Amino acid sequence: MRVTCRSCPSETGEPVYEQTAPIKPCCAEMARRWGSLVCFGIAGARRSTSREVNLYVPQPQANGKAVLEVVPVAFCPWCGEAVKTYRMK
Ligand SMILES: [Zn+2]
Repeated sequence: MRVTCRSCPSETGEPVYEQTAPIKPCCAEMARRWGSLVCFGIAGARRSTSREVNLYVPQPQANGKAVLEVVPVAFCPWCGEAVKTYRMK
């Protein structure tokens, strides 16, 4: 699966990235989970300093709340297709 992104100027001078085009999901599960369980950069943020595709795994804590563990993925966890990020100019 191919994800395209580009860098944008930011107020801090640190490069930030945004996805430039909707994905073409590699499988039905990816289509269903993109944007929630798996997404480009940081869940819920349009731009982020991360330019990887990340998987968000809820980890239950002792106090009953869950935190999200962020795992960069190079392959689709469901069908195994390579997930590649392309940086556009
Ligand atoms: Zn897939």
